[in-house]
Amino acid sequence: MDLLALPAFNDNYIWMFHDGVEAAVVDPGDCAPVLAALDRLKLKLAAILVTHHHHDHVDGLASLKARFDVPVYAPALETIPGSVITVAEGDDVRTVGARFQVIDVPGHTRGHIAYFHRAEALSEAPVLFCGDTLFSGGCGRLFEGTPQQMYGSLQRLAELPGHTRVCCAHEYTLSNLKFAHAVEPDNAELIDYTRWCEHQRAVGLSTLPSRIDRERAVNPFLRCDAAAVISSARRHGSPSDDAVEVFTALRQWKNEF
Ligand code: ZN
Ligand code: FE
Repeated sequence: MDLLALPAFNDNYIWMFHDGVEAAVVDPGDCAPVLAALDRLKLKLAAILVTHHHHDHVDGLASLKARFDVPVYAPALETIPGSVITVAEGDDVRTVGARFQVIDVPGHTRGHIAYFHRAEALSEAPVLFCGDTLFSGGCGRLFEGTPQQMYGSLQRLAELPGHTRVCCAHEYTLSNLKFAHAVEPDNAELIDYTRWCEHQRAVGLSTLPSRIDRERAVNPFLRCDAAAVISSARRHGSPSDDAVEVFTALRQWKNEF
């Protein structure tokens, strides 16, 4: 399976995967980059996957649906414009020769879902489309869910295989890593990774996809049980060492950072 990040707007990515003939896209907030990629690579659109209802993830749906009669998979708990096939935890989505497991990840929005492909071929790594739930070095804002829900959702994703390719919907990595440094200034892997990301951005490349094992090592929101993260969170309002309270304090601190 070939994987491409199509840049959209300022800092969104519309992920596309294809087998050389058919393609599917995730969260098409704009149709133009999708049409251009289909045309350039001579691919036929087979399906659209949606993670949540925000406009920068769904605004391209109507024009794509007007051109292609393809299924749109979308979260059962959210209202998405147009006709969609609703999916939730436990459902499978099969397209472009791959099977995706749907994982409920409430927090950023109430019904946010992620799509996980457990690679069957040895030459491939699993793929996760996580929308605005997990970002490299950070996580989405809590617009509709509780900290408890978001913490649980991130924990679910952190348990996926370490070599899973993490396909986030925004290029927020460098600003997330600035915050991560404030939380954990002595994290050596974070320092190395930041250097690599700065280079990627300087030469105009994406920092994504990330990997689950890297996020476990550098992302403070997945490290709420690490001593250095706990002590920083305690200095920023966490009333205890409890992981959800640490997470809540970190998220609040990041909102104001
Ligand atoms: Zn969003
Ligand atoms: Fe977004």
